Amino acid sequence: MIQLIDKFRREHRLTAGEYKQLLLCRDADTLEYLRMQAQEVTFGRFGNEVFIRGLIEIGNQCHNNCYYCGIRIGNRSLPRYELSREMILDCCREGYRLGFRTFVLQGGESSSMTNEWIEEIVSAIHGEFPDCAITLSLGEKFRDAYERFFRAGANRYLLRHETYNKEHYRLLHPAVMSYDKRLQCLYRLKKIGYQTGTGMMVGSPGQTVDHLVEDVLFIEQFRPEMIGIGPFIPHHDTPFASYPAGSVEMTLRLLSIFRLMHPAALIPATTALATLVADGRERGIQAGANVVMPNLSPTEQREKYSLYDNKASFGAEAAEGLRQLAERLNAIGYKISNSRGDYEAARNE
Ligand code: SAH
Repeated sequence: MIQLIDKFRREHRLTAGEYKQLLLCRDADTLEYLRMQAQEVTFGRFGNEVFIRGLIEIGNQCHNNCYYCGIRIGNRSLPRYELSREMILDCCREGYRLGFRTFVLQGGESSSMTNEWIEEIVSAIHGEFPDCAITLSLGEKFRDAYERFFRAGANRYLLRHETYNKEHYRLLHPAVMSYDKRLQCLYRLKKIGYQTGTGMMVGSPGQTVDHLVEDVLFIEQFRPEMIGIGPFIPHHDTPFASYPAGSVEMTLRLLSIFRLMHPAALIPATTALATLVADGRERGIQAGANVVMPNLSPTEQREKYSLYDNKASFGAEAAEGLRQLAERLNAIGYKISNSRGDYEAARNE
């Protein structure tokens, strides 16, 4: 297994069977070796600097009904909100003051948030903060909309594929949602020129090791600039309320795998990981992640952006949260980078 990991580090790819072996491995020393290799590769590439992205949850209205997600349209007990343009700009202003140079606008998919409106917000942020990167995470849109947002100043787009297995996709989403459409969106985003992020939940209901191998192979060939993975966490008002949460250990293992596969990738230690274990962000970073996404959303609305139960409200007070993050990173030998942290193609891959 050690040789397999060494080969993976050198060649950045394995066969399906070899990935499966890694995912099934139960030997603690081997897994620690994998983690150390990933941490070393991250360090070689990014030093001890971690990029920060200010997450702004712009609204929880959604016409989709994904079985795992707390903001699905079918959840009638959730109060809905939408931030105004001024509120979003205020979040950016506060974030900028604190040192953020990337803003991530994330939200449900709702027709009340029109493409024109999104375009206008992107344009306003770009105009006021020309030195900042703008990331969108607003789901599936037509090509024309993605192009307009890009022209208005958006640089990056996060759209997790959620699962590369078609039957598994059907198990996680109602029949009106389309696996093909989601993948098509991803290819479009890449073609337009976005730094594109994709990924999946770990331990979502019905997920098998073979599904994870398919996800890993997809990411290997798609080569996203950003890779977002976090454990599935049940939400009490969804059809998956009684399913167990995904494994922290498997999430960390996959972070390491993706780091060795793609040394230059931007990989966050996600909020979901930090929700399951108090030191989730630190452990994510030590396993190969190099990004954290503190929350910049207005505190009054945060609770309503409930994708899953007990979502870590890290950065409850943006300034205080950032100070704590800096301290926690310090304690493990890392520090916050004040750069935009764009994807830079690998020099020697
Ligand atoms: N509407 C946007 C944003 C979705 S929320 C989109 O479709 O891309 C961002 C991510 O949260 C989702 O892609 C999903 O992978 C994750 N998520 C949703 N529900 C979750 C849950 N119960 N546990 C863990 N992650 C979840």
